[in-house]
Amino acid sequence: MSEHHPDGKHPRELTELECADYLEQIVYFIDNELAEADCEVVRHHLDSCNPCLEKYDLQRTVKSVVARSCSEAAPQELRDRVLVRLREVQVRISEG
Ligand SMILES: [Zn+2]
Repeated sequence: MSEHHPDGKHPRELTELECADYLEQIVYFIDNELAEADCEVVRHHLDSCNPCLEKYDLQRTVKSVVARSCSEAAPQELRDRVLVRLREVQVRISEG
């Protein structure tokens, strides 16, 4: 049956994101690619969520290191590697 839905999740609202979803937002947030309203949501979450704040710091550190070593934006490959690393951290945190 192709009509089967694997999970019964609600459609995503930016205000109801889970931490895993925030990881993507954080990447855009650091790149200044979020709309002002979305920035507020991410900032608010970082204020109240330590694991996400740590990932934000990690992302920002990587980004500034890359920015220092070459004046161009981080290559997509590096960004992907950071994202994979962040997901590993996320898994470890949620497995507690
Ligand atoms: Zn979080």
